[in-house]
Amino acid sequence: MPRGPLEGMTFSADPSASPDVPILSRLLGMLSLLRTDSCELCGETSFLQDELGGFCGPCVEDILSAPGPFLLESSPRVWAAREYSGEMVQAIRVLKNPGHRKAAPVLADLLLRPLYRKLQESWMTEDDLVVVPVPASPAGRRSRGFDQARLLGRALSSREALLVKRSRGRAQKVLSREERRENAGSHFSPSRRIPPEAVPRRVVLVDDVVTTGATIGRCGKILQELGVEEWGALLLAVRL
Ligand SMILES: [Zn+2]
Repeated sequence: MPRGPLEGMTFSADPSASPDVPILSRLLGMLSLLRTDSCELCGETSFLQDELGGFCGPCVEDILSAPGPFLLESSPRVWAAREYSGEMVQAIRVLKNPGHRKAAPVLADLLLRPLYRKLQESWMTEDDLVVVPVPASPAGRRSRGFDQARLLGRALSSREALLVKRSRGRAQKVLSREERRENAGSHFSPSRRIPPEAVPRRVVLVDDVVTTGATIGRCGKILQELGVEEWGALLLAVRL
């Protein structure tokens, strides 16, 4: 079976992309909006701010200081912000919780924004980039009432293009790593044929968790088939 462009690739630490700590300082500096509540991540009752999406300051610091970002080897524009472990596992759970839509903009701002800026720099533009969310599974979308990748993408850019669609398939989480690789690309396809002149020249794929890179590779291939010249991808976390 032919291998996709990213299959079998590994992510490695990208020392040139350091965590954007000033964002945290800015958020923590907005003391006027403090209230006490229990943190969505650690459960401790503490001072929370709406700007932190229901997470307490120490948990946000844990997320920011977790290992990352990671760059997909031999693919210069595919980044995962953090390793999928520790606080990040819980943060992704909160992100997908139907009651917590406010987590997406916070996680996008804290973790994806610095990488989004690097993409803008590498493409030498300050314009909003066209975001293509990697569609969540139909079952997941139905159960939580939203698609977390779309929420993340909207927090980054006002320009969205739904160029990739996803049909029903076996849920990735019940499969082994090998099965995921086989399964990952099979149910993604171009969402619609659009006239060549309407295809964005550059796009950025956005998703929450990456495991093998096969899904991202398949989506990138679809974008190229549609006529996209350059694409990048921003993921919140990578399972290493
Ligand atoms: Zn906490």
